[in-house]
Amino acid sequence: MTNKLTVIAGPTAVGKGTVVKYILDHYPQVKLSISATTRSPRPGEVDGKDYFFLSMAEFNDLIARGEMLEYAVVHGENKYGTPKKRVLEALATGQLMLLEIDIQGARLVKQALPEARLIFIAPPSWDELVRRLESRGTESPEEQARRLETAKAELAAQSEFDHVVINDQVARCATEVVELMQA
Ligand code: 5GP
Repeated sequence: MTNKLTVIAGPTAVGKGTVVKYILDHYPQVKLSISATTRSPRPGEVDGKDYFFLSMAEFNDLIARGEMLEYAVVHGENKYGTPKKRVLEALATGQLMLLEIDIQGARLVKQALPEARLIFIAPPSWDELVRRLESRGTESPEEQARRLETAKAELAAQSEFDHVVINDQVARCATEVVELMQA
């Protein structure tokens, strides 16, 4: 049996990471694709768990070898991408596989695998999104401004998705995503 791949995307600081963590903690049948990135690890992030942290040369080598399902330059500087192997294996074995990637990546996955299910995670409001980004405090003011610029364009893209789920409460949002994955 083949299975639909599910991609979740949404603007910066909408809480995608928290929703994904809730899903993995509560729904062990769901597996998460681990992306590769050229950005540096944040404090506490673990190579091979949060991301595969690669140099630009290593990343470009994977692209050249055709081992990326998709990749994109995110927020104007670093490359992020989905290694193909595990995702295709999951599809072939019918495992529920989740990709948490940016909107450019979501579009590219849909081109490569038209049956993929795209879910947009939306904030309850713009003001709430700004509040979440500021209170997270992991980015400099310049980086926050850059991410909010990207977020405006990302919010405008939600009509391209198969489903929109509002992250008003983490548990509720996560449960809705898993229900959609199993539908
Ligand atoms: P962060 O640096 O905060 O971990 O992630 C920045 C952005 O990169 C987020 O919007 C995230 O969804 C996106 N991202 C993470 N992994 C991938 C990936 O494999 N492919 C693409 N296209 N975007 C990704």
